[in-house]
Amino acid sequence: MFRISILGIPNDENSSFQRGCAEAPPKIRHELWSAANNMWTETGVDLGVEGRLNDHGDIRFDGGRDSWELIETRVDEVLSDPGAAIFLGGDHAITHPVLRAVRRYHPKLTILHIDAHPDIYYDFEGNPRSHASPFARIMEEHLADRLVSCGIRTATGHQRDQIAKHGVDVIEARHWHDDTQVDFTTPVYISLDIDGIDPAFAPGVSHREAGGLSSRQVINLIQTIRQPIVGADIVEFNPHCDLSNMTAVLAAKLLKEIAGMMVQTS
Ligand code: MN
Ligand code: MN
Repeated sequence: MFRISILGIPNDENSSFQRGCAEAPPKIRHELWSAANNMWTETGVDLGVEGRLNDHGDIRFDGGRDSWELIETRVDEVLSDPGAAIFLGGDHAITHPVLRAVRRYHPKLTILHIDAHPDIYYDFEGNPRSHASPFARIMEEHLADRLVSCGIRTATGHQRDQIAKHGVDVIEARHWHDDTQVDFTTPVYISLDIDGIDPAFAPGVSHREAGGLSSRQVINLIQTIRQPIVGADIVEFNPHCDLSNMTAVLAAKLLKEIAGMMVQTS
């Protein structure tokens, strides 16, 4: 059986504006297993089959060890299990140490990045580990062959320079259409910042930016991937900002649809 590992990475120490994303993993798990829904994906995969989802729990950050080393080590351990893996943030800063480990297993890799923000500041307020900077580090360290950023609607002049410097393929939200397609030629890692989705659907984020993609558009994008989806993260869900749990429910739904496509593209 093709297994999907789940690992919580409850770390928001590099959030620039407000904390809270570290509390996301148990909220997402709660909705994932809620009796309100069944465990079938839209595309016909039963995630409730014994052994399909392998939950490794959450990384414990006790301050005793550098957080980046700890994340890279734990992710590496999880990836030594065959199958695919989904990481639950935490803020978007975690994607950098996660990719350091993922890259060891995938010499060919494209990142599908969904976000309101390019997250490619050289540093933010002097912090090179900022959640506004993971893709600067990832591109500098060649942790992917290609980065495709979708849903962007906040790029500054500096970030546009960084996008050009690192050759990022950007599809801005203003250019997104229902029939927009992204073609992949390598295995894919999905980095899903919940604020890429419009705050009308996903209010539980620290940086609400109107004019985003709909839940449907993001799910359709995920469902059209035909290359193996080898890993994914779901980041920036901040329970402190949520309304009636709707963002937690959406995050769990996105986890399911990604997991289903991991099975179907394996
Ligand atoms: Mn982000
Ligand atoms: Mn964002």
